[in-house]
Amino acid sequence: MQIRIKDIPVEGQTVTVDIPLTKGRTTMDGRLCGQIGLRVMADEVVAEVRAAVEARSTCSRCLEEFENGFKIDVVLACVPASSLTEDDKQLSGDELDLYFYEDGLLDINRMMEEQVILNIPMQTMCSSDCKGLCPACGENLNIGHCKCVKRPSDERFYALKALINGARAANKTKGA
Ligand SMILES: [Zn+2]
Ligand SMILES: [Zn+2]
Repeated sequence: MQIRIKDIPVEGQTVTVDIPLTKGRTTMDGRLCGQIGLRVMADEVVAEVRAAVEARSTCSRCLEEFENGFKIDVVLACVPASSLTEDDKQLSGDELDLYFYEDGLLDINRMMEEQVILNIPMQTMCSSDCKGLCPACGENLNIGHCKCVKRPSDERFYALKALINGARAANKTKGA
């Protein structure tokens, strides 16, 4: 969706957005829905964004998909890209919520994709106590126990084995 700044009425304008998101452009698949209020002030446009992102991510531990939606509430100053030098862009971009437009056009999809990338939650797990997958059989341990859960006697055996290995290593060092 592109909006010509000349066409925005003096009293402002509200646009409704419904933008599909793709991994290729925003690192997540999903959908952004919301409203953007636009007001023109000289050659700057103030864009008040109220949007919700519906998205699903893959848990880094159990590899299941989970809901990972978030909200974007931000007021952006849209300024012409031509009015700033490269240095200005870097400096201001870090400190302010800015969007640089070109040729008198607001590219709403690109503007929203930038905001999605900036606001993606850091959460990469389906929950903070995700049990992950069994390293032996690959079963999802959030759903149930697998058959290769260690028995207490196994654990004693492993402790003994570690002791023996330790003693062997020590003997080797002495021998050398
Ligand atoms: Zn998980
Ligand atoms: Zn297992």
